[in-house]
Parts: sequence; structure tokens; C-alpha cells
Amino acid sequence: MKVNSKREKKLFYGGNEWVKARTLFAAEWKANGKPCAYCGQPLRWEVKRAVTVGHKVPRKLRPDMALDPDNLVCMCSPCNSRRHFAQERTRVEASRSMQEVIDPR
Ligand SMILES: [Zn+2]
Repeated sequence: MKVNSKREKKLFYGGNEWVKARTLFAAEWKANGKPCAYCGQPLRWEVKRAVTVGHKVPRKLRPDMALDPDNLVCMCSPCNSRRHFAQERTRVEASRSMQEVIDPR
């Protein structure tokens, strides 16, 4: 199955393994009082969907690291949308902006 196809995404993000990994990861991030990995703003844990757990290196590039805590980060929703759009851009543009997308502060 193609990584990032609609069906694959649904299976991955709805799967127990991911839900468990992201819940544990977010709890630890929150307990450590860490801010958004990309903009450094405090995360608003009390607001539903204001915090997203994402992959530093996109799953498309490293599907093997999809559940690796070393490859996870917590981010605010503006940064999540920014990354999302960066990844949707054309390949040339995406490869240029990918470094920015991959490297958290
Ligand atoms: Zn942010």
C-alpha cells in the first residue's frame, strides 16, 4: 500500500500502535513543559486539537521511523498546517522547504 494514500493514512492514524505511541509521547512532552518544536510557543493542551504529534522526518521518507519517539515532535496547529502545506507543494519546492520542515528548533 502506498504510504500517504488516503486509505493508508486512515489505517495508520486510526491504528492502535499510532494512538498509543502518540498518547505516550504527548503525555511526556506535556509533563516536561516543552513548547511547540517549531515556533517555540507554549502549547495549549487545554484546547482540543491545538497540539499535534507529528513526524520530524515524514513517513513518506522514513516509514520505518513512523512510531519511533526520536522521530516525533509536538507542535501547535499553525505549525502543523504550515508543515502540511509545505509538504503538499511541488517536489522541487518541497525538497527546498523540506529541510526547514524536518529540522525543529
Ligand atoms: Zn508552533
